Amino acid sequence: MSTLHFSDLSLPKAQLRNLEELGYHQMTPIQASSLPTILKGGDLIGQAQTGSGKTAAFGIGLLEAIDLKHFTTQGLVICPTRELAEQVRQEIRRLGRYLPNLKISAICGGVPIRHQIHSLSQHAPHIAVGTPGRLLDHLGRGTLDLSYTKVLVLDEADRMLDMGFADEVAEIIRYIPKKRQTLLFSATFPEDIRRMSRQFQHRPKEVVVEALVENRPKISQSVVLVEDGRDKPAVTAEILYHYRPQSSVIFCNTIATTIEVTDFLQRHRIDALALHGDLDQKDRDQVLIQFSNRSCPVLVATDVAARGLDIDDLSLVLNFDVPFDPEVYVHRIGRTGRAGKEGRALTFSLSYKQERIEMIEAALEQQFPRISASELKGAPAPLHAEMVTIEINEGRKAKISAGDILGALTANEAISGSDVGKITLLPMKAYVAIKAPLAKVAVDQIWRRPIKGIECRARVLR
Ligand code: AMP
Repeated sequence: MSTLHFSDLSLPKAQLRNLEELGYHQMTPIQASSLPTILKGGDLIGQAQTGSGKTAAFGIGLLEAIDLKHFTTQGLVICPTRELAEQVRQEIRRLGRYLPNLKISAICGGVPIRHQIHSLSQHAPHIAVGTPGRLLDHLGRGTLDLSYTKVLVLDEADRMLDMGFADEVAEIIRYIPKKRQTLLFSATFPEDIRRMSRQFQHRPKEVVVEALVENRPKISQSVVLVEDGRDKPAVTAEILYHYRPQSSVIFCNTIATTIEVTDFLQRHRIDALALHGDLDQKDRDQVLIQFSNRSCPVLVATDVAARGLDIDDLSLVLNFDVPFDPEVYVHRIGRTGRAGKEGRALTFSLSYKQERIEMIEAALEQQFPRISASELKGAPAPLHAEMVTIEINEGRKAKISAGDILGALTANEAISGSDVGKITLLPMKAYVAIKAPLAKVAVDQIWRRPIKGIECRARVLR
């Protein structure tokens, strides 16, 4: 298997920098084997599952193919479900964030069509990501024009066929010029997928990578057996005391559980924050900022809330609740052990009721070792982050840059550049990670010393 780096490809410098910033230091196997063909404009049929990095493989290709000057739909991704389309849109947005004026639209059902018609009529997106029914609806009304489309991606093609979308997909493709690049991704290659490929592709290169879990031998996966569900919070604390992870996510199936577990951990002197769908946008942003700038080692999250989390190299993922679906399991644990780093995934199960974890094991054709909760004793030393976050009451709108903030802080001799971590600028606020013992000094410094002539206020986020 090739271990090419992104820098071995002919990609713009801004994209290489962006990939580094996203924490994509190395290509995943599907990326290494497909990107050379994709960037050359060739057709490709790739066997890849969620978690393999396939979205970035075709996303990088799409971004290279489009010409930003023309507001025409030059790339189209067809997905089986709204959720997948939304994930794909977000990933391409991240990959394309260095491109000014890039427009990507999700064109899916479930929202009123008139909003979409309005947005499409303003100007066409460079890249459209959608589900078959709604795409056809727009094509029928003439509100989506695919006559300039150069790259077509069929994502999770086997699921599209399973869901009965074969005719719709064929109908959509009739609106796209024959001279195009067609990329087809599918977890399996049964005969009907081969037929689809013959129908819509031209001499595609075939790429197969093994299943996710085999790709990631560095994720150690175990099941932690508990006798009583009520023991789980205490065992969670034991696990955190034991492994002392720098960054970890604990996944729960309900919002109530995330709150309960977070409270328990905080009472046991573990810095933990809850991330769930009941938080308003401001709180959600603050939680994500504190977690990603390493001011909080433990995040307790629901699956939906964690979706936008673009944090790599978690050292520990704990499934407080067994997910209902093997795909969700794969998605959760795929957040650890990224890019060759070691990762640990633990899943709680009641010892007398293991059906759900056994179902996941069967789906993944794997057996996870069992650990008894009593083996995981750790000295209950508090688990605090090395950094804390300071909030400053001005941001990008005041034309303040990260450099200005760093300058203001390090003007105090007690603070050196290496004491300051990630600086996040929002329109009206800025967040700075700083070594915990210096938090008070840093807050005082901001109050005392104007930043770019602006007197700012600051406080430590708790
Ligand atoms: P996907 O298979 O496209 O759903 O991607 C799985 C996850 O891997 C996504 O969260 C991506 O952000 C992440 N990812 C994709 N490519 C890389 C890479 N080269 N290095 C690290 N993470 C990646």
